[in-house]
Amino acid sequence: MKVTGEYFDGKSSLAHPVEITIIEDYVVMVAGEGINIKTTLDDIHISSRVGNTPRLIKLQEDAVIHIGDNDALDEAISGFYHASTRAHKLESRRSVVLLSIVILVLGVVYFIVDGSSRLAKVVAYNLPATVEKKIGTEAFKYIDEGILEASKLKEEKQKEISALFTKFDGAKEYKLHFRRGIGINAFALPSGDIVITDELIEFSEGNNDMIFGVLAHEIGHVKRKHSMQMMVKASMVGILVGYFTGDVSTLATTLMSSVVQAKYSREFEKEADAFAKETMKKSGVDPKNLALFFEKMSKKDPTHIETGYFDSHPANQERIDALLAP
Ligand SMILES: [Zn+2]
Repeated sequence: MKVTGEYFDGKSSLAHPVEITIIEDYVVMVAGEGINIKTTLDDIHISSRVGNTPRLIKLQEDAVIHIGDNDALDEAISGFYHASTRAHKLESRRSVVLLSIVILVLGVVYFIVDGSSRLAKVVAYNLPATVEKKIGTEAFKYIDEGILEASKLKEEKQKEISALFTKFDGAKEYKLHFRRGIGINAFALPSGDIVITDELIEFSEGNNDMIFGVLAHEIGHVKRKHSMQMMVKASMVGILVGYFTGDVSTLATTLMSSVVQAKYSREFEKEADAFAKETMKKSGVDPKNLALFFEKMSKKDPTHIETGYFDSHPANQERIDALLAP
């Protein structure tokens, strides 16, 4: 199908008579005296029909073709151009944009819910030890000054508990701090600072194997970088929230509260338990002593359990069973 028109090269006002041929469904040939252009429907723009005014085919670089015979042009393009008109293209582009937005939003949600955990893990495992040390030390100072009270435990008992530490591999990496004021509790910071409360030691009623299990569990959290993962994750979500809301003040508090509260996920608790079990076995301590601790805790009036890891997850029985399994 051929259509005739006048070609203007965009540089001079000289009109060149040309013939336009649309081949297949995309190739457009423009031929005239000294003019031979091959292009595609995608690369040209055909103006809409307004009555019988001449229509324009815009080519690249300001070149245009005036078409006087609208019917011939319509006929030439009717076979295929309808499927690829600009409007149609724009519309499909718009749905592509919409789809992209939906995918992006889903991606962000996925990132917050799941992806951030994976990314946090990668980040936490790759942070230099000096960073862990610094963050952990700072956090410990913050908690110590703000929340903890000095231990009233007899020095003799402190020495006895500290001696348990020598059973651990790489015990030198950790420092045990005796404190009180936060109920039956123990927690560990990425710097290797481990806090155990008088209340917990009293609660153990002289069962040092139980305390050994609790400490092993805490070291498991450090070894598996749980608090670092939580901090990284909390700060990532905080950054995202801050990015969208412009409010970054929550970021700092989220960061600290994740350390202080140390509400680990069930998965983290499982990992720490598994580490404790293995460590206890290696050190010749029966893992049933840690199970005993969980049992004892669950029998306690739950309102009396102030804070800590052990009451945040009700699936205590599952943990006890896992520890008692051979
Ligand atoms: Zn734990």
